[in-house]
Amino acid sequence: MSGIKDFQARAPGADYYHELVAELAEANRELNAFAVINESISKGFPVSVKDNICVSGFEATASSRMLKGYVPPFDATCVARLKSKGMGFIGKTVMDEFGFGTFGLNCDIRARNPFDKEYVAGGSSSGSAVATSIISNHASVSESTGGSISTPASMCGVVGFTPTYGAVSRYGLIDYANSLDKIGVMARSASIVREVFDMMRGPDDMDSTSSKSQITDNRHKKLVVVNQLLSNVDPAVRKSFESLLHKLEGEGHSVDYVDMHFINDAVRAYYIISMAEASTTLARYTGYKYGYQHEKFEEKYNQFFSEARENFGLEAKRRIVLGTFIRGANVRSRYYYKALKIRRAIIDSMAKAMKDAFIISPTVPIRTPKASDAERLSPVEVYALDSMTIPPNLAGMPHISFPYDYIDGMPIGAQLTTTHFNDHAVISFVEEWEKAFSYRFKYNIGSL
Ligand code: GLN
Repeated sequence: MSGIKDFQARAPGADYYHELVAELAEANRELNAFAVINESISKGFPVSVKDNICVSGFEATASSRMLKGYVPPFDATCVARLKSKGMGFIGKTVMDEFGFGTFGLNCDIRARNPFDKEYVAGGSSSGSAVATSIISNHASVSESTGGSISTPASMCGVVGFTPTYGAVSRYGLIDYANSLDKIGVMARSASIVREVFDMMRGPDDMDSTSSKSQITDNRHKKLVVVNQLLSNVDPAVRKSFESLLHKLEGEGHSVDYVDMHFINDAVRAYYIISMAEASTTLARYTGYKYGYQHEKFEEKYNQFFSEARENFGLEAKRRIVLGTFIRGANVRSRYYYKALKIRRAIIDSMAKAMKDAFIISPTVPIRTPKASDAERLSPVEVYALDSMTIPPNLAGMPHISFPYDYIDGMPIGAQLTTTHFNDHAVISFVEEWEKAFSYRFKYNIGSL
């Protein structure tokens, strides 16, 4: 593996890309990372893009039947910026439908974990994590609402970085929940993450929530562990996380344990807010505007929309129904407004705890499950597994998941969070970590 500049300096020729695409197509038959592979890539550092981010001329479905056939005529701002810096586009990666999921199972094409195909790849950016885990020189542009970058990155043994809300323009993103969605990046090293983030970020006239704020690199030696979060972690993960903390103490960090009020309400607050927003962002899929065309215009209004919208998957339907209920005038103050208050309280207490420290936690509270076991969990049991990734996402704070151990051959990640716009600091932390810890991969497609 090399950095982007090394790769560009070597400027591999047509044969390299030819072989890369052929090997990738073969691996993809087993692992399902890509919805589309760009067979005509012929130059540039290979970058894949999650299927809810628009790349001109390539179908963008967000893994939904409702968007089948939608081919955007424009690039998302982040994609346009990467192309203008000479990055090459290698393909679109599969995901949970519209980002609704934790395991990559809520979709027709399910990515598989490259360390063992029986296991889930994590979600919702499942394909991005698998692509990153199997391609040597590559980065993946992905997106997180409540943990969709950290979780699959942890399960597939790669670095996954979610920036401050607003640091990267969302123009060209197929929305899940506008107040929570963030475009970020996965790679096999923190330095590649930094380079790609720096190319994508910055204000954009096309997204009024994109920010002009300076990105800082204020590093801390102190690490904070939140007691309430740790109490949800399964024993094997906890043991290995504690040995990580010891190791970091040996490298000059100090570890403090703190209590944080409302942190265990974060999952509930997140699902209330995200479903309320999702039920409105999905209203635009009606069967005649984007993607899927219902074409039975002779039908009555209600019949037409009910039939057209039957094409949403089960989890999307669940969220439309619950989200619509939550927004109802008679229950709004009972759920939605309360959730907003909890969100505010969590932002304040996290910011306070991180004045001179980073928050560190396992990325996922359990070991990566087999797909057959994950399928047996109820929706509420699945939602609860987002307990580590939801707090920084709800707060819009930058965080990074990095591999730190392998249990029975499966990778496991830890997550580091910092305050708004201090994004470079968590990337720097992982750059330091990588100096003494080598990541393992099962595939090395396109190595130089
Ligand atoms: N698992 C969370 C959800 O389903 C987060 C997914 C995401 O970040 N898109 O909402």
